[in-house]
Amino acid sequence: MSLDNTSHLSRPEPDELTQSRYALRVGEIDVLVISDGVMPLAPEVLATNADQAVRVAWLDDMFLPRELLDWPVNVVVVRSGGRTVLIDAGLGVEFPDFPRAGRLALRLEAAGIDPASVTDVVLTHLHMDHVGGLLADGLRGRLRPDLRVHLATAEAEFWESPDFSHTSMPPEVPDVLRSVASRFLDEYRSQLRPFEAEYEVAPGVVVSRTGGHTPGHSVVRLASGGDRLTFAAGRRVLGRVRPPRLVQRLRTLSRGGGSRPGRSFAGAGGDRRAAGGHCTCRSRSVGRVAVAGDIFRWVPEWWKY
Ligand SMILES: [Zn+2]
Repeated sequence: MSLDNTSHLSRPEPDELTQSRYALRVGEIDVLVISDGVMPLAPEVLATNADQAVRVAWLDDMFLPRELLDWPVNVVVVRSGGRTVLIDAGLGVEFPDFPRAGRLALRLEAAGIDPASVTDVVLTHLHMDHVGGLLADGLRGRLRPDLRVHLATAEAEFWESPDFSHTSMPPEVPDVLRSVASRFLDEYRSQLRPFEAEYEVAPGVVVSRTGGHTPGHSVVRLASGGDRLTFAAGRRVLGRVRPPRLVQRLRTLSRGGGSRPGRSFAGAGGDRRAAGGHCTCRSRSVGRVAVAGDIFRWVPEWWKY
């Protein structure tokens, strides 16, 4: 957008006044973190292992509302070795309760990324806020026919006949999750490229199955020229504690302290630079994972200009 384009001023779009993408490089790899928007969720859904009094005190301390927290949904576009890889696809447009999410198609366009240029999609898991965007007409009709969609075999198998007996979520959620995942599998079956444990999608772009959040949950590790970045989307990847904004304080305050080491970062080496599928919008969801014993703490990265 150029500043002398007054048509923008006469048709304000308040949402887009907020920065919605963040570009960085990992060695030779171009990375763009794009916000799909936010989903307001009750804090107790996000931080189930914190006492209510602790949670409320923390929210007050941070000047955050007690009732609903804006839960960020992020996707990443990576360019490496002539391939353009979309990691996750946001919520899509079928959920009227979440009118401020599902912006992926608009924001790809705003970033100058033609969906037809996307050669590969990597799905960290099949929850609706990661795969729903692929079902939205605004995006689906513009993707190329030879698109490759990478997904852990265990994830595809789980959602063929999901067993939710080991999870706890609000009663209406499982049916919605099941329905979105099964539509995705139906519509994209011929383009799926399932992998067992690990697959190099493009030079230096490796998707690895971690499990945890869902049976086939995966992270994407970027490595180039000595630089690294891990994209982790599922909230349990960092342990049991939910949104990274809450991690530090809840780990400190909640009885019993920290959690088991997250599988995603335990083997990440010395430089645990990460981008989060649900991390705070501060610093566009890129930060570092500080490790002290079995405690993982999210430290947002300062913007680099
Ligand atoms: Zn999820």
